[in-house]
Amino acid sequence: MKNLTSIQPSTSQPAQLAALKQAFQEWSQGPDMLTRLTKRLSTTLSLENQLSIMAEEISSTIPFDSMQYRHRIARQDFVFSTGIGGPHRCEYRLTLEGAHYGSLTFQRRQKFSDDELAGIEMIMSAVICPLRNACQFIAIEQTALTDSLTGIGNKRALDEELQRAASLADRLGSAYSLIICDLDHFKLINDNQGHVVGDHILAKTAEKIEQAVRNSDMVYRFGGEEFAILLPHTREQEARDVADRIRLALETIRVDGGETPITVTGSCGVASHLVAEQPEQWLARADEALYQAKASGRNCTRVFASIS
Ligand code: GH3
Ligand code: MG
Ligand code: MG
Repeated sequence: MKNLTSIQPSTSQPAQLAALKQAFQEWSQGPDMLTRLTKRLSTTLSLENQLSIMAEEISSTIPFDSMQYRHRIARQDFVFSTGIGGPHRCEYRLTLEGAHYGSLTFQRRQKFSDDELAGIEMIMSAVICPLRNACQFIAIEQTALTDSLTGIGNKRALDEELQRAASLADRLGSAYSLIICDLDHFKLINDNQGHVVGDHILAKTAEKIEQAVRNSDMVYRFGGEEFAILLPHTREQEARDVADRIRLALETIRVDGGETPITVTGSCGVASHLVAEQPEQWLARADEALYQAKASGRNCTRVFASIS
């Protein structure tokens, strides 16, 4: 067997070290725009911050009136825009190793010269790697917040959003409601039909809930067969109506189960946010209302009524 420790590293050449020293001096003091730009971009993984840095640095060399970036990342549109319009435009489709990382558009009142266009292209080739990293970072963050079975938000996403919703409700004094919906006797379906059928029903449940609520409402799977729905600008009574609509939508699920199709029902607990209430308390009240719904025979909605 080869003894790795016996391999002697060859020593560096003085000329190489001198070149490194020279390069470091240029890199650390270098006033050139590309060095400064790429250095600044490497300090952040936030796509928004990177685009702000780019806009600032590019405009110091090639003035423009507006810059717009668009990309669809992890099923969501990301748009960044700075400045206003201008009739002349140049647009770049950013690609690296065959993958697309968005489109960047510059606009201004004067025409871009050929030299300026060539300059922008040079800058684009210098920024593409950091931009790719920032796009991938968003995609990874999104994956960490997504339930892989249903494609909707997971418990972590719910926790983050509950926190945000509780402080928004307090700051703006706006109504915010929470529904917890739990499938009834789901263990029986799993035991009798198997996990694959169970998983299929969970995916259908997420779909039905999303169809039953408004676009501004957010749906999460935060436990095995438990779903949470956050409803901005929604009071108790309205949230109860939404919960009942969700229950009716769940009743329409039909999954092939041999002679008779498999059907499901769900129970819902509703709680509207109270002033200065912590997210955990809010969730606990919705959970208590759900418990009441289960105790009342299931396939029904109960509200943890606020005293007003
Ligand atoms: P209840 O009406 O009181 O809610 O009864 P339940 O049977 O729905 O509730 P229980 O908490 O006893 O059982 C929940 C079941 O959900 C247990 C498990 O079989 C099932 N389950 C949890 N997570 C998953 C999952 O990811 N996939 C599948 N197929 N089933 C799951
Ligand atoms: Mg259940
Ligand atoms: Mg449950």
